[in-house]
Amino acid sequence: MDCIFCQIVAGEVPAEILYQDEEVIAFRDINPQAPTHLIIIPKRHISSLTHLSEKADSFLIGHMVNVANQLAQKEGIAESGYRLAINCGEWGGQLVPHLHMHLLGGRRLSGKLG
Ligand code: 5GP
Ligand code: ZN
Repeated sequence: MDCIFCQIVAGEVPAEILYQDEEVIAFRDINPQAPTHLIIIPKRHISSLTHLSEKADSFLIGHMVNVANQLAQKEGIAESGYRLAINCGEWGGQLVPHLHMHLLGGRRLSGKLG
């Protein structure tokens, strides 16, 4: 498996892991775009948002949001505000083909979304 995020899940590539449970794992982005920039991923390899199954994965995506909210609290950015972002596909700006949510905060973020 040459997926970099699967390798982080497997412990084959080091990362600063801040949270994990049976379903998800969260770690600091290697190239942070803001003072807090975390990545939340499912442990199971899912390529992108378009590969989510409505029936099987609704809990998973909700759980990822809940984990992100808890991490925002821990990072001390819940009050000031933060952004959750999921890029999907080439034009959506997705570079790593393993579904992931960005948690960004710690400064006033740009109003630009696209
Ligand atoms: P995307 O553009 O696919 O939405 O975002 C991928 C993110 O993964 C980027 O912000 C990038 O810095 C981060 N990233 C890529 N490779 C690694 C890695 O090996 N370790 C960590 N911690 N982050 C990575
Ligand atoms: Zn993967």
